This record gives sequence, C-alpha cells and structure tokens, in this order.
Amino acid sequence: MRLILLGPPGAGKGTQAQRLVEKHGIPQLSTGDMLRAAVSAGTDVGKRAKAVMDAGELVSDEIVNAIVAERIDQADCAAGFILDGYPRTLAQADAVSAMLEERGLKLDATIELVVDDAALVGRIVKRAEDAIAAGQTPRKDDNPEVFEERLREYYKKTAALIGYYHAKDLLRRVDGMMTIDQVTAEIEAILASIK
Ligand code: AMP
Repeated sequence: MRLILLGPPGAGKGTQAQRLVEKHGIPQLSTGDMLRAAVSAGTDVGKRAKAVMDAGELVSDEIVNAIVAERIDQADCAAGFILDGYPRTLAQADAVSAMLEERGLKLDATIELVVDDAALVGRIVKRAEDAIAAGQTPRKDDNPEVFEERLREYYKKTAALIGYYHAKDLLRRVDGMMTIDQVTAEIEAILASIK
C-alpha cells in the first residue's frame, strides 16, 4: 500500500502515519524527519537545508525528490510506504508520479486531513511544550512566528495538490478536527474500502 498524507503543518499527519506504521507494517517516509536527520548529521544536504527549514520555507524540490527516490528503493519499502509531508509542491507531485511509474508501482490514495487553521498554531505550541516536558529539545520551527510562514508556504505551494489528486480520483478527505482515534478509524475505513 502506498499512501500520501496531505494537510497543513500540525494537521496530525505524523501522528496518523505512526499509527499506520504499527497497523500495516510499512514505513513512514517523512521528508521533514529525513531533512532534520541530515541537519543533525551535518551532511551537505543538511547544510543546504538548515536555514530554509529554520525560516519555515520549503527546501528545494531537487533535494527532497532525490532523498525520496533513494529511500523508496530500500528493502523496507517493498510492500509500500506512507509519505508524510511529501509531496509539497506540484513539481514534487509530478516527481513522485514519475518515480512510481518508473518502478511499475501505483499510489493507492492521498488522504487529506482537513483542519481549521485557527486550531493549528495551538497544536504546534503544544507539540513544543510536550517535547520540553519529555526532556527533548523542541523543533526550532515549532513556534508561532515560524509557523505562520510554514502555513503560508502550505497555501502558496502545497494546497494545489488537493486539486491535483482529486483530478486523478485519488483524494480522500478526513475531518482532522476529530479525536486522534476517530481520525485513525476513518482512515482505516478508507483503506478498507480501497483494498
Ligand atoms: P515537516 O516536519 O514535514 O513539518 O517539515 C519541516 C520542514 O522541512 C519544512 O518546513 C520544510 O522546510 C522542510 N520540508 C519537509 N518536507 C519537505 C518537502 N516535501 N518539500 C520541501 N521542504 C520540505
């Protein structure tokens, strides 16, 4: 099963992706996590991405497309994967379509988590507080100022993917304002219906 989780920052994509990993045994491919790992490791990609990420802007299509193309060829992706936070631009959406086609694979669905913008900044602030409470360092971009830029980027560049996948009849929408368990149940119902 190959899925895309779509939605603005704070919509719950990461949380739902982790639940899908547990239930379906396929990996979560979060480009945000991969880029943060590259930043921590101080790789070339990390060095190029760091300032852009700290500002809440999008890293170049070229960088993220290359990371994903390499990742989906790894053995643990053979039975499928969940793309979380990728694609985020139309060029990335075209790139993932081409990657799948080249490998003779198909996308099963894109699930959009639909949320109220007003709730998002509160979720991000809470995520940072929870990280601190757990003794972790919160993400540098999880603060209200950078969050505004991340949300702007979403509307400028990513929201167009809703129409892109709708036109391909691959878009499924879930109310992301429900409880985490309710959202999970709805996603599972969608997956059962497309099997
Ligand atoms: P996320 O963890 O998905 O919120 O991503 C954190 C940051 O990583 C974003 O604000 C971007 O700077 C960068 N990033 C993650 N995924 C992508 C992507 N698909 N395209 C461009 N930039 C990305």
